[in-house]
Amino acid sequence: MATERDYYTILGVPRTASDAEVKRAFRKLAQQWHPDVNRDSGADERFKEINEAYQVLSDPQRRQAYDMFGAAGVNGSGGFDGSQQGFGGFSDLFDAFFGGTAAGGGGARRGRAVVGSDLRYDLRVTFEESIRGTEKEIDFPVLDRCATCSGSGAKPGSTAISCPQCQGRGEIRHVRQTMLGQMVNVVACPRCRGEGKVVETPCEACGGDGRRERTKRLRVSVPAGIDDGHQIRLSAEGEVGPRGGPPGSLYVAIHVTPHPSLKREGTELFHDLSLSVAQAALGTTVRVPTADGEEDVEIKPGTQPGTEIRLRGRGAPHLRRAGARGDLHVLVDVRIPTKLSREQREALEAFAAASGETGLGTGKVGVLDRLKDALG
Ligand SMILES: [Zn+2]
Ligand SMILES: [Zn+2]
Repeated sequence: MATERDYYTILGVPRTASDAEVKRAFRKLAQQWHPDVNRDSGADERFKEINEAYQVLSDPQRRQAYDMFGAAGVNGSGGFDGSQQGFGGFSDLFDAFFGGTAAGGGGARRGRAVVGSDLRYDLRVTFEESIRGTEKEIDFPVLDRCATCSGSGAKPGSTAISCPQCQGRGEIRHVRQTMLGQMVNVVACPRCRGEGKVVETPCEACGGDGRRERTKRLRVSVPAGIDDGHQIRLSAEGEVGPRGGPPGSLYVAIHVTPHPSLKREGTELFHDLSLSVAQAALGTTVRVPTADGEEDVEIKPGTQPGTEIRLRGRGAPHLRRAGARGDLHVLVDVRIPTKLSREQREALEAFAAASGETGLGTGKVGVLDRLKDALG
């Protein structure tokens, strides 16, 4: 029984819809109206209609015929017939429900070796090591290939056989007949856990797992310029998979012990430099820490608070540009003294008087009076 409704209307797409839009609309509606999901009376009919529309609009030739001649152009007198058409939309329907690849098409996948887990190792380096780069030896426990069975899990002299439950495919298909045709559900074979092979006589050393725990020692090369929070990936140095499965990766997570007076942002280093009033006014030479040890830095007379002195190439190395380095930014602050000795106070008052400043201080005796005292 051919429906009278327009296929585009059924799928809720414009006549200009692309194949992808048609497919997307179908998947969305199929999930909503599949009779296994939707218990409304009429869901069956609705789903059938959606499927029928999709069968036509997803096939370029049939869609063209439909556009020209309407339903008669594609259905002849028989209308939609599930068994005759097969379930052409099956793979899309499978996608819609299982989110994976469709099992249709006869391309039976062979059992798959399980990849081993990734591992993480936390490695602490000093600030100087992070700048210069270093090599570290690390020890860590890891599931490695069993030496007795070379990782196969089978007792030496025996071999793993093709799984009798799934015939080595690693998966089991459950086929259900529905009014719309077959629904196929694919699950990993429980007997061989999807690997396609089973060990009949397990290796005694590893119990058939093909792995044994051992302590692994590695030299890790830490590149110059590495920063806190970076990870170094060592592929294939993680856990091996069971029964000959390939190894995962080892991630070495870097922790950098902070420098007491240098802060780092990317390749730039920052140092807060505190100067006395006299140092800032008169100029001097100060020692500042850099990534390569201490260094003399000239302070020009009259240096203001907030001044930034930039030491080019004294920052952290670029990880990806060999030889390139960031800058060291020396940020100047000027300390205003909070407690003055009598001598210092008098000197400062003299300084103020020499600058023509009056009315300073909060004491009962004014600056000028005291100056007069001092001068006799
Ligand atoms: Zn073994
Ligand atoms: Zn199996």
